[in-house]
This record gives sequence, C-alpha cells and structure tokens, in this order.
Amino acid sequence: MPLYEYVCGGCNARFEVLQRVGAGASEIACPKCGGREVVKQHSTFASAVAGTGGAGTMPCGASSASSCGSGGFS
Ligand SMILES: [Zn+2]
Repeated sequence: MPLYEYVCGGCNARFEVLQRVGAGASEIACPKCGGREVVKQHSTFASAVAGTGGAGTMPCGASSASSCGSGGFS
C-alpha cells in the first residue's frame, strides 16, 4: 500500500497514512487533534521535485528567452 501524506486543517499537523490506492480521506482523522478536516497532499516525491526544480521547469524564462518562446510564426 502506498503512503499518503495529509495535513490537518484544524491544527496544521502533517502526518502520513498507509492507504489503499483510491481510498478517500473520509476515514482519516488527525492523530494530533482528532480532527477530520484533513487534506491529502501530493506525494513527497512530487513536492520535492516542485520545490527544488523551480528554475528547471521554466528554462526559457530563466535564460533571457532569446532563442525560445519569442519567435512565433504569426
Ligand atoms: Zn489536527
């Protein structure tokens, strides 16, 4: 079973839960405050890539865009 990451909307605690694929958050309660207002987060892998690869996702904008994006054929 994959490990999902949740954030509690009540106390902002972050915790991980082993769940079946496709299982909802309705059965999940915050282990810290017991709240049910939990929000499933993206996988840790995806969030790590987004956090560290900010410049890498937009190479054209980061490098003065002289050779890409600005030369449209219209
Ligand atoms: Zn909580």
